[in-house]
Amino acid sequence: MKYFSTQGHAPIATLEKAVVKGLAEDRGLYMPERIKTLPKEFFEQMPEMSFQQIACTVAEAFFGEDVEPEALRRIVCDTLSFETPIVRVKENIYALELFHGPTLAFKDVGARFMARLLQYFIGGSMPKEGANAAVNVLVATSGDTGSAVANGFLGVEGIHVYVLYPKGKVSKIQESQFTTLGRNITAIEVDGVFDDCQALVKNAFMDEELCRHMRLTSANSINVARFLPQAFYYFNALAQLAALSPQAEAVMCVPSGNFGNICAALFGHQMGLPVKRFIAANNANDIFYQYLLSGKYSPRASQQTLANAMDVGDPSNFARIIDLYSRHGQLSPEETHQRITALISGATYSDEQIRDTMRRCYAETGYVLDPHGACGYQALEDQLQPGEIGIFCETAHPAKFKETVDSVLGIDLPIPDRLANFMKGRKQSIALSRDFPAFKQFLMQQ
Ligand SMILES: *Cc1c(COP(=O)(O)O)cnc(C)c1O
Repeated sequence: MKYFSTQGHAPIATLEKAVVKGLAEDRGLYMPERIKTLPKEFFEQMPEMSFQQIACTVAEAFFGEDVEPEALRRIVCDTLSFETPIVRVKENIYALELFHGPTLAFKDVGARFMARLLQYFIGGSMPKEGANAAVNVLVATSGDTGSAVANGFLGVEGIHVYVLYPKGKVSKIQESQFTTLGRNITAIEVDGVFDDCQALVKNAFMDEELCRHMRLTSANSINVARFLPQAFYYFNALAQLAALSPQAEAVMCVPSGNFGNICAALFGHQMGLPVKRFIAANNANDIFYQYLLSGKYSPRASQQTLANAMDVGDPSNFARIIDLYSRHGQLSPEETHQRITALISGATYSDEQIRDTMRRCYAETGYVLDPHGACGYQALEDQLQPGEIGIFCETAHPAKFKETVDSVLGIDLPIPDRLANFMKGRKQSIALSRDFPAFKQFLMQQ
């Protein structure tokens, strides 16, 4: 399968190139040139299949031409070391719990898959003289991405990960998830803000001397190897729903920030996933919601909210959604907008509404929502029609936002063991200034 850029000015790429490079030369996002429809028999058998079997079929449709069948099966099975159950919250609303992985958020799926696929592609190349690994992944994080990427790549041979994070701007729980790991993970505590970390990473990629010294790559969320595997759990969710309620008309609701997660669901829909319609739930950063209303896309600076992993003012995967529904730019912006609004509706919630939803859901059902999932749950409550069954993604475990959840609900939410275990570890990090020369010197010594 070949991959093209949403900007249309970059050379067509192989899967390997798309995964190693992440972003195309013209700064567009890679798209697979075809999306295969899965056969009717697969959907009939899905309710009896295991998560891993379902995921292997979906993975084969995307990656089967470029990865050996046995290797692909192993990558999928290694990635999915945990379940993604649907749990009934009230009569017609289910939570798709995506927080049973190592860092308790859905990004585990994409990060684990990408680590293993990258390892597969670099498998043949030996570490360079003087460098400690064949590939070095640089990732800047404001919290969640760093933990998912660090844990996804932990112990993966031939790859070393450097996580750059802003000193004092990341919660203790988050910090412990990437600073206590050791092995092939190095945490770098930057005396600055998130944007400084991001700038250091960008400068490193542009520095020729550094790139000669070590092979650098990014594990950005726009990478096809991070976003496409997220389709796996949507198929698994529909399989579970079909087993419970064969005739259900399913509405899939995804709390969205950069729109990678919902984009994977939309790719699934193109493959035949039996979802009637989708809802993209926003917090106060309602750029997509406004696009649905007006047909105009007006990015703006993000604003801080309780659901902070969705504080995005210019969702990077918007370009993929437009490409998908404009048939690669063949349709007019009006026709594209019409096709999108026919399938996807939006919602936007203030922090006050998020708090209200968390309280009401807890009082009525006993289910503890995290602030992101709360946007999804509320959108279903507001928009479900009679006869429809709604599934919303619970994108992170509420204990990851313990302070917020405890204060909103007035409870003392227990911290799951695997989260508590990170906090028992010893913090290991390298302190650096936000100046590029110091960062470069550090990397040149590795
Ligand atoms: C990343 C994240 C989101 C947003 O997902 P996108 O793919 O960026 O739309 C939502 N909730 C949580 C907990 C996240 O970590």
